[in-house]
Amino acid sequence: MSVYKDIGRKLILGAGLALMSYSGPLTALNMKGLCFSERIENQAHLKQVIAEERGKLRIDSDVRGELNDTLTEAYCWKESMSDGNGGKSIYKISLGKIPRMRDAVRHELYHIKRGDCDREAPITGFNAPILGFVPTDLYYLFIAEPRAILYQSLGLEL
Ligand SMILES: [Zn+2]
Repeated sequence: MSVYKDIGRKLILGAGLALMSYSGPLTALNMKGLCFSERIENQAHLKQVIAEERGKLRIDSDVRGELNDTLTEAYCWKESMSDGNGGKSIYKISLGKIPRMRDAVRHELYHIKRGDCDREAPITGFNAPILGFVPTDLYYLFIAEPRAILYQSLGLEL
């Protein structure tokens, strides 16, 4: 057996263990927040919650939110507005029907805070390496997503 095969097997085992240890508690934390945090009632309420939570995270950039009844997820993205807004970036958060809670806003804001929304490729894409060697999907799975869930539910800024 080649040594590379052995290393490969260890890496797969390590990734599997990391996934298992992450996924149970993280899923529970995620569910807790999405079920029990304050519900966002309307567009004006969303704006107010974004302003409050953005202040706690000390995010300088403009962040705008929208409620989207056709989605059952929340996500964020960056919009570059070279003309308006003095050339500064604007971030947007879209909240679908199901995660329409304060914790979902906290989650997306933490992605913005940590630059997860600044990546060129969508964070779920497999084909865009970051840091030279880590596929974005692994980054998302092992770093970006656990980090955002820990902030959303426990307020930990990792
Ligand atoms: Zn996320």
